[in-house]
Amino acid sequence: MKYRTLSYPLSHQSPVHKELLKPSIKPNSQISDGKKYKSYLIQVENHSGTHVDAPAHILPEGKKIADYHPDELIFTDPLILECPKEDNEFITREDIEKVDLDGVDCLFFRTGFGRYRELDTERYLTQNPGVSPELVSFIRKNHPSIRCLGTDTISISSYQKADLGIQAHLNAFQDSWGEALLLVEDLNLEDVDRVAEILVIPWQLESVDSAPCTVLARLE
Ligand SMILES: [Zn+2]
Repeated sequence: MKYRTLSYPLSHQSPVHKELLKPSIKPNSQISDGKKYKSYLIQVENHSGTHVDAPAHILPEGKKIADYHPDELIFTDPLILECPKEDNEFITREDIEKVDLDGVDCLFFRTGFGRYRELDTERYLTQNPGVSPELVSFIRKNHPSIRCLGTDTISISSYQKADLGIQAHLNAFQDSWGEALLLVEDLNLEDVDRVAEILVIPWQLESVDSAPCTVLARLE
């Protein structure tokens, strides 16, 4: 195998942030009902399932996901960093201190919390580890080659510390430190180690801030 997906398929059972509507995927035309073709009505909030947050998520004048050129969504020096975390812990600067991030353009944190997505969904949604705001600004100031962060948690925001989560998003997007980061949340990072390339492929939606996405990894 040359490629694998690091995103989850979207279904009506996909766990989504508590404040979002549950996805709804309903048959509209069905062959079993005498129609000549099938079609479905799909209603999802754009932050459902594996999705990519762009600056417009938080910043009123921020860049929207459709404003990104394909070149900005392909990463040829990705790193999936082992970063085990328990409930409500934060990924912090100490977690990257001894890591060689020279030239890395996409950094995904594997906390291991992804194992609760199916096993204990309530825990996955309400006890998730977060990324500390301080780490986000540290990365932007000191590792400008990194253009994308991602986690195997429902959000980079810890559900229990929502204010810090908003601050982490703000630090990722605000203009102060050059080009904003993209944030990919709810990634499937199980059983993947070294990857040579990552492609983040958002739904092509006009006008919205962020979008569900497929994430492909080319294996080494
Ligand atoms: Zn989001």
